[in-house]
Amino acid sequence: MTAPRRARVLLLALAAATLAGALDGTLAAGPPAAPEEPRSGGPAITLRADRVLDGRGGALAGATVTVVGSRIAGVTSGEQAMVGAPTYDLRGLTLLPGGVDTHVHIGWHFGADGKYREGAGAGEPPGLSALYAVENAAATLRGGITTVRSLGAAEDRELRDFLARGTLPGPRVLTSLTPLDEETGPPEAMRAAVARLAADGADVVKIFASKSIRDGGGPTLSQEQLDAACGEARARHLRSAVHAHGVESARRAVLAGCTSIEHGALLDAATLRLMAERGTYFDPNIDLVFRNYFENQAHFLGIGNYTEAGFAQMRKAVPLALAVFRQALATPGLKVVFGTDAVAGSHGRNFEELVYRVEQGGQDPNAAIVSATSLAAESLGLSDRVGAVAPGLDADLIAVDGDPTKDIRALLRVVWVMKGGRVVRNEARPAR
Ligand SMILES: [Zn+2]
Repeated sequence: MTAPRRARVLLLALAAATLAGALDGTLAAGPPAAPEEPRSGGPAITLRADRVLDGRGGALAGATVTVVGSRIAGVTSGEQAMVGAPTYDLRGLTLLPGGVDTHVHIGWHFGADGKYREGAGAGEPPGLSALYAVENAAATLRGGITTVRSLGAAEDRELRDFLARGTLPGPRVLTSLTPLDEETGPPEAMRAAVARLAADGADVVKIFASKSIRDGGGPTLSQEQLDAACGEARARHLRSAVHAHGVESARRAVLAGCTSIEHGALLDAATLRLMAERGTYFDPNIDLVFRNYFENQAHFLGIGNYTEAGFAQMRKAVPLALAVFRQALATPGLKVVFGTDAVAGSHGRNFEELVYRVEQGGQDPNAAIVSATSLAAESLGLSDRVGAVAPGLDADLIAVDGDPTKDIRALLRVVWVMKGGRVVRNEARPAR
């Protein structure tokens, strides 16, 4: 990752401009933050695949999916589906909804000096920071992820709004903007901070309720602070995603009615059962985030709590997080969603987390795929837009080489990506 990043950023800008032209037939014009309206007209695009996974656990053999504008118009299977030549012949491949990653940090990157940066600032020109974020977004989409929730950076808003125009390659972005933590203050300050986030256009509230796993993961917010933060979020129809590693912080968040627990590397069976009872989503991040830190250790060491001791804590956490994940799968009714905590170095590799969950965690591949499509979409309040192959939903679709219900590693072979009815990656083999 220390290769000449500036040159790559410039190349990316050129590539993005070229792609924008290819997508629209013209370069983008107009106000910078005007989200694109759903497109309902235009000629139908047909996609024919060996099998279609609907994202809700169902599978169709030999199916044709019709896309009109930015939406899925129809799904047919059997003989009828095979009449006429499709616009995209995806035979030999599996078509499924684009992945939904409920926990990323889309702007975090390695800077020109090779050092890890949590988004913009600290001496980096803002334009360069923005280009790194665009680069991460393009890599994420190419990797088959068509929706992400980015948790914890004010500058994500401009990226979200720009990508919503549909002219640059990137996933749909939901953002929490600035997170709340113990520095935010007493309950009244928590409520005021949520009100500010709502006014600023946040899609969700991110709350740090425990220390980092590098610092032991102990609780940092009281029950009253969490009641205030998640209560205010609910009153404003915002979801709340709570960073919580240990039992105490997670219990408080669940009792406060927060929407999801992120990480949870130190949870126990009783807390997981409580989450299931209360309908709290669990987003464990058990592989990619750790493995990426270890692979890229030199880029992180020396920054904040990325110390030798912090890395030792993370190495200890890996088997604990895996055990918690297995316990979560064995907890009846617990909604375990797909989130990677993608940081610098892991954008675009998101599906590696799902491979680990199946191969090391013992999750059923079909359940893993549902967790990364319809269930993840439900957890973000987007069930009526994404996460399934069904008429009326956004045409966010991917095709992979192989059948991921039999070999989950097929998800690492994404060869075709459509976002909002536009094909943004097409390496499908010619029809045989
Ligand atoms: Zn995170």
